[in-house]
Amino acid sequence: MPGWGVPGVPGRGEDRLSAVSAFRVDLRSDTVTKPSVAMRRAMADAEVGDAWYGDDPSVNELQELAAEVTGMGSALYVATGTMANQIGLASHFGGKGHLVGCLAHAHVATTEVATSAALSGISYRTAPGHERGWMTALDARALVEPDSFYDVEVLDLLAVENTVGSAQGSVMPVEELRQIRKVAEQAGLPIHMDGARIFNAAAAAGVPVTDWTTEVGTMMFCLSKGLGAPVGSVFCGPSELIREARRLWILFGGAWRQAGIMAAAGLIALREGPGRLHEDHARARRIADAMAELIPGSIDPRSVETNMVFVDTEVSGLAAIDAIERLQALGVGATLIGKQVRMVTHVDIDDDAVGVTLDAWASILG
Ligand SMILES: *Cc1c(COP(=O)(O)O)cnc(C)c1O
Repeated sequence: MPGWGVPGVPGRGEDRLSAVSAFRVDLRSDTVTKPSVAMRRAMADAEVGDAWYGDDPSVNELQELAAEVTGMGSALYVATGTMANQIGLASHFGGKGHLVGCLAHAHVATTEVATSAALSGISYRTAPGHERGWMTALDARALVEPDSFYDVEVLDLLAVENTVGSAQGSVMPVEELRQIRKVAEQAGLPIHMDGARIFNAAAAAGVPVTDWTTEVGTMMFCLSKGLGAPVGSVFCGPSELIREARRLWILFGGAWRQAGIMAAAGLIALREGPGRLHEDHARARRIADAMAELIPGSIDPRSVETNMVFVDTEVSGLAAIDAIERLQALGVGATLIGKQVRMVTHVDIDDDAVGVTLDAWASILG
C-alpha cells in the first residue's frame, strides 16, 4: 500500500506494514481527512471556469478570502503545500542558485529538499532552532552571517515554519518572529513562512493569523490538513509578487483548469475549519495525558500545544516501530518520526476514536 508513510525504516515499511489498507482510527496525519457531506455538495454545485485564464469564480473567491484572512494582499490557489512553498521561495528571485536559511528539520529542507534543488536550484543553510522546534532570532543571526571564506554563500532569504511539523507541532511565538524580522531587515532579506498549519498556531495562541503574517514577505497554508479540505494549499504574498508566482505556477505544471471543484471545498475549509481546531488540540492533549500515565516519562503533556502527540515508547523498552505495528494490527494508524510515535488529531477523530486509540495502547502495553 503506497503512502503508508513510515519514513526512516528502509525495507521494513512496505512489506511488513502493508496488510491493513484502512484504519479504524487514522492518526497518521491531518492530511487523511475525508471531505464532509457539505463539501461534497459544494463541489457538485461549484461554479467553475478556467483557472489558467484566471476566470474560475470559485478559485477566485477562495483566493480573495485567503488574501483577506491572511492580510497578504494576494493569493494563489495551488495543488499542494509543497508547490506553495516552492512557488513562495522561488518568487523572491529569478534564476537559479540561491541559498535559503532555515532550520535543519524544516519541511522545506527535508521533505522538499530535492524539489527545491530540482525546480529552483535552491540549497539551504541550516541552524538548529529552539528546543521547542522554532527558529530563534539567534538562529537567524547565525544564518545571515556571511561566510568569511566563501563569499558565494550569501543568503537570499529566510524560511520559517509555524507550527513546526517535526517538533511536536509547536507554535512559534509572535515576538520571536518580530525579532527575526529585525535581523532579516538589517540583512536586507525577505522572509517566507511555511504556515502549513498556521491556523492551528492561531487557535492555540488565541490570536489571528495576521499576528504572524504581517511579519513576513510571503507565506503559505494548507487547506488539506486540519482545515479539512481534500486538496489544496494557498500561497499568499504581496500583489507585486503574484505575477511571478503565477508564472512559476504555470512553469511547474500547476495551472489546473476547472479547479473550482476543489476550491469549493477549500472555501468551506477556510470559513469553517479554523473555528474547530481547538477541539483537535483538546483531543491531542487528552491522548497525551493518557500516554503520560500509560508510559511514565514517554511524553510531557504540556509539550502538546496543537494537534500532534509525540510519544517516546523506548523509555519503556518498546521500540516505536513495534508500537506502530501493533497499533496498526488493532486498526489505529500512527507514524514514526525520528524514534518517536506521532499521532495527529483532525476533524475525523472524535471522542470515540480517542477512546479506541487509548484502549489499543492499553492492550499493547498490557
Ligand atoms: C504538509 C506540509 C507541507 C507540504 O504540504 P503538501 O500538501 O503535503 O505538499 C509543507 N510544510 C509543512 C510544515 C507541512 O506540514
